Amino acid sequence: MTARPTGRTAVAAVIGDPIRHSRSPQIFNAAFAATGLDWVYVALEVPAGEVPAALEGMRALGLAGMSVTMPHKAAVATHLARPGAAAVGDDLAPAARRLGAVNSVERRDGALIGHNTDGAGFVASLRADAGFDPAGRRCVVVGAGGAARALVLALADAGAADVVVANRTRSAAERAAELAGPAGRVIDLPTGAGPGDDLRRELAGADLLVNATPVGMDGASSPVDASVVHAGQLVADIIVEPVVTPLLREAAARGAATLGGLGMLARQAAVSFEIWTGLEAPIEVMVAAAGQH
Ligand code: NAP
Repeated sequence: MTARPTGRTAVAAVIGDPIRHSRSPQIFNAAFAATGLDWVYVALEVPAGEVPAALEGMRALGLAGMSVTMPHKAAVATHLARPGAAAVGDDLAPAARRLGAVNSVERRDGALIGHNTDGAGFVASLRADAGFDPAGRRCVVVGAGGAARALVLALADAGAADVVVANRTRSAAERAAELAGPAGRVIDLPTGAGPGDDLRRELAGADLLVNATPVGMDGASSPVDASVVHAGQLVADIIVEPVVTPLLREAAARGAATLGGLGMLARQAAVSFEIWTGLEAPIEVMVAAAGQH
């Protein structure tokens, strides 16, 4: 962030509700400071139903970029693909179109282009923070919500051999697994005690287990029974707070490698930074800023 905004300072923002807890302002403002860009990034609370007005506001005000978080990712995609969107140049990039969800809006001339950088951020974190390349690997994703869907698509696009989805609601798991094409499969997520036979069998041969549900944010619960996790596997949890979830703690105790959600948070922001500015993101600065609380 420029020390004192002037008449020339460009403004970027994140919209969501709630939004006051967001770490995005600290991540982006650190990146703007490190690169000497005269930009400032603020958090804007936008209630449900106001997404079209917020996007038209972005256009009218000339905001330089906009991040989108819960609960607006699908509504932004809908607005940018509305009838008549093409006439003004509004569009969705391929991942956002396939997911029906946008987490980053680029301003290109007068038009608004919706992107989804969550999957790219996760895969970048796998590679850079855990030394894990998904190509040819067997992956199990727990969850089938917005974040899980982005992960499933990105893992398949990165060449994963298997992308197995386990979710409380099976129909959502089936829709998510479809995003992985022939690599996608569904197994049941056990609801009672114990890991369940399907999960036990899958995890015996899996290279990666990732939690993409909010289960564990309470610091006490775990989305799966970790008794089937073993050394030689990577266990990732995209939850950001707490940094070390019960699943990660148990996985580490069993000798598995672990990866928390801060790397994904910083790296999906870095992809946005590069889309908006055309500059290389100062990734180490962004990772460090993501960890400050
Ligand atoms: P979402 O769209 O609401 O999806 C939630 C998913 O979790 C659904 O599959 C849901 O299953 C499942 N779930 C919720 N409560 C559950 C429970 N008690 N037991 C079993 N499954 C449960 O949420 P989201 O946007 O995907 O976010 C998921 C998590 O990812 C959140 O913790 C979020 O903070 C985190 N996240 C992190 C990053 C990052 O950069 N690190 C980015 C995005 C999201 P059903 O289908 O059965 O409802």
